[in-house]
Amino acid sequence: MCEIFVLFDGYSRQINNKIMEANCTCTLIKAQKNIIVDTMTAWDRSRLEDALLRHGILPSNIHYVVCTHSHADHIGNNNLFTNAEHIVGYSVQQKTSFYDKQIEQEDYILCKGVRVTATPGHTHEDVTVLVENDSVKYALTGDLFEKEEDITNPALWQNLGTLQLRKVQALTRLRILKYADWIIPGHGAMFKKTSVQVAFLEKQILETT
Ligand SMILES: [Zn+2]
Repeated sequence: MCEIFVLFDGYSRQINNKIMEANCTCTLIKAQKNIIVDTMTAWDRSRLEDALLRHGILPSNIHYVVCTHSHADHIGNNNLFTNAEHIVGYSVQQKTSFYDKQIEQEDYILCKGVRVTATPGHTHEDVTVLVENDSVKYALTGDLFEKEEDITNPALWQNLGTLQLRKVQALTRLRILKYADWIIPGHGAMFKKTSVQVAFLEKQILETT
């Protein structure tokens, strides 16, 4: 049994051509292990602690921290979780030990129903957390998907991604959307996958160079 609790919905807003206001989606997974996915900014420490407490979890009870990539708004409170193994992109670490998990080649299974899979594109080392609960499938994608709107307006993810990996990201977005029933994106609310969305992404692959 895996339970998913989105603690905070991410968002992003362009204020002007120099400033974007953004914070990431932060999600708690209660399964055989307690897992937190993306830890927001360093300024969110106390509200993150409060949110966990409402679910009966202390930072010391977290077994895995997964940061979908290493941007500052996704890693800000990793040091709250000093009992946990930290997976930041493809890097897997506990204290000063780094483990060679080859995530880029093989999914890393954290516990029954929860695994980490490589989904590069926004950066060179993005990961997505895949959760399967009672045959309902969730993908916690970080910025592989910024928000639901980026399906119909691909500039939203393309402008923030790695230019050389744009085609890779387009292919990966389709792979994850086909897999999942629900997408939990990096900077927007959770949304349910539709066949219309799949068709959009198939078309985008042909258009992406
Ligand atoms: Zn982000």
